[in-house]
Amino acid sequence: MQHFLTRADFPHLLTSLQAEGHHCIAPQVRHGAIVFDTLEQVSQLPTGWQDTQQPGHYRLHQTGSPYWFDWANGAAAIKPHTFAPQENLWKVVRDESGRLHFKTILPKPQKIAILGVRACDLAALALQDQHFLHGEYPDPYYQQRRDNLLLIGVNCTHAAATCFCVSTGDGPVIRSGYDLLLSEIDDGFVLEIGSERGEHLAKQLPLHAASPTQQATAQQRMQAATQQSRTLPEKPPLYDLLQHPHWEDVGARCIACGNCTSVCPTCFCHQEVERPALDGNSSTHERLWNSCFDPSHSHIHGGAVRRTPKDYYRQWLTHKLAGWHEQFGRSGCTGCGRCISWCPVGIDLTAEVGSLTA
Ligand code: SF4
Ligand code: SF4
Repeated sequence: MQHFLTRADFPHLLTSLQAEGHHCIAPQVRHGAIVFDTLEQVSQLPTGWQDTQQPGHYRLHQTGSPYWFDWANGAAAIKPHTFAPQENLWKVVRDESGRLHFKTILPKPQKIAILGVRACDLAALALQDQHFLHGEYPDPYYQQRRDNLLLIGVNCTHAAATCFCVSTGDGPVIRSGYDLLLSEIDDGFVLEIGSERGEHLAKQLPLHAASPTQQATAQQRMQAATQQSRTLPEKPPLYDLLQHPHWEDVGARCIACGNCTSVCPTCFCHQEVERPALDGNSSTHERLWNSCFDPSHSHIHGGAVRRTPKDYYRQWLTHKLAGWHEQFGRSGCTGCGRCISWCPVGIDLTAEVGSLTA
């Protein structure tokens, strides 16, 4: 059943979440981009803002519309809220007798509600769940955050020129993975319930039954986001193309900054380091995001296996678009387009795959 929450009643959603102890995170304009950050009041939402994106290009402009969610994804995915960029995993302390004591440092349980999550990022979250939770050794750090996460999805009504979620089959319409789902129209939101937690929350809201006109308007607005020009083949045969001369071409343009892996909602590579205390009596074991564009990422005895931007980019693309099929049964790309917009030299994986497979 589809419900309707008026724009004027939207603050009830925020206050209900806050009253239940959720730390609310939602899109806001920061330093010229839309990012997910702490939301204390509805006025912080990005009213009327919309983006223009191209390879190596992201700009916001004001449309004067009443919409809060009429934009395509900004740089930050929701990934940092489940897979922390930096966290302490465990600590070892030496007691007076010289015995070592190991202690796991789990993150503090905190209820988090994220508002405004898009289809490509929910698909990416499902992939991160596969990696962190459904393997032989579930990750307790990720699990702690994931168990406390409430997700309020919003269907896209605007696609950036860099979006290609239609091609990967992950968007723009959200089909699963949400607690509540909103579709924005002029005077409010068509609302759908996706879980028991969502139902519990919906019971606290002044909802109406969504009229056929409101439902049709929401559908019509979502159509705009399906107009996407970029495409990506489902499984490009990259393992057969490892010696293709185009890798040299892309390697000559790539500056190995790692932006693409930082903004990608599915990348999960990390490194672990020891931080010993100066007195020699304790040490903290830390996990940090890492990237296949970092020379240390392939360092084994005797040196790094991959040493040039060509090697890094080939590793990234072949793992993401070929290796993931073996590991997770699907490509590691959900078509969000972030790696295209936030690459400082405008490298576009859809174009690179096109050149490799032409
Ligand atoms: S590879 Fe690029 S387009 Fe695909 S999910 Fe990652 S950032 Fe988005
Ligand atoms: S492809 Fe672009 S974003 Fe990725 S490391 Fe190279 S220059 Fe940076």
